[in-house]
Amino acid sequence: MEGPAFNPQNSPRYMEIPTFMRSPLQRDPAGLDVAMIGVPYDGGVTCRAGARHGPREIRNQSSMCRGIHHVSRLNPFEICRVADVGDVGFSKIFDRDAVLADIERFYRRILESGAMPLTAGGDHSITYPIFRGIARHRPIGMIHIDAHTDTWGEWGGSRFHHGSPFRYAVEEGLLDPKRTIQIGIRGGQAVDDGWRFSADSGMRVVFIDEFVELGVEKVIAEARRVVGDGPTYITFDVDGLDPVYAPGTGTPEIGGLTTREAQQFLRGLRRLNLVGGDVVEVCPPFDPSGNTALVGATIMYEILCLLAEVAAARAR
Ligand code: MN
Ligand code: MN
Repeated sequence: MEGPAFNPQNSPRYMEIPTFMRSPLQRDPAGLDVAMIGVPYDGGVTCRAGARHGPREIRNQSSMCRGIHHVSRLNPFEICRVADVGDVGFSKIFDRDAVLADIERFYRRILESGAMPLTAGGDHSITYPIFRGIARHRPIGMIHIDAHTDTWGEWGGSRFHHGSPFRYAVEEGLLDPKRTIQIGIRGGQAVDDGWRFSADSGMRVVFIDEFVELGVEKVIAEARRVVGDGPTYITFDVDGLDPVYAPGTGTPEIGGLTTREAQQFLRGLRRLNLVGGDVVEVCPPFDPSGNTALVGATIMYEILCLLAEVAAARAR
């Protein structure tokens, strides 16, 4: 038997139960600074399904992550209290409205606990009920990496899908479009109403062409300018990356960010007024090598480092 000082992060990485980054499993978020959560739901996909398997595979690949960040030299697990609080449970798994209510309720509990949520999806539709849980009392800003703006209207006779969460969020006053930046946008579309909604509502949309033209450092400065010092959420859709790096996703689009650019970009976001983040659209059925899940886990670790540093500064 292991004693109370047992730390799975000090075990060989192929051992022990694969929680997110081998952090402790703690169902109750009380006392945590950052709560890592799985939302295994993909009922909003418009193309290739399977992102519901994302949390489990991200947990598995996240065993490769370790503590100390090689740039900041900070160890998020030492400067704040981090745990895996498990997956959002669903009361009626095939009832979409019940699923949304379950997610919203779960995140309201996280908010009330004082912890910042860091989520592995799931398709991008989950970020909408997450916002309902954490942004009801005031709109938040957002840094959004994606090939798609996810501000589309009705699709296939439904307004709810993974291409619409941020349109809903703006309409409901959860997301402040003027404090929102969308980065990596590209690819042909059947209709352009999503692009137009983003622009017309006042979001800063950085298509991939402009991203390449400006370079990472200028895009970092632009993101920091747009969100300012208000509460800000980071949402990372792995299809924002080039499918060379992240092929295991539902709606791949070539010509995207490299993993290096994504890491460099995220490392430029230190000490913003962050309130949470997520990594979505890892789709294990299209990821036989596991590399997309590894990329998802590592991006999640970058976001964890940002959240941990903010939590530690607030605690001082
Ligand atoms: Mn998306
Ligand atoms: Mn996308």
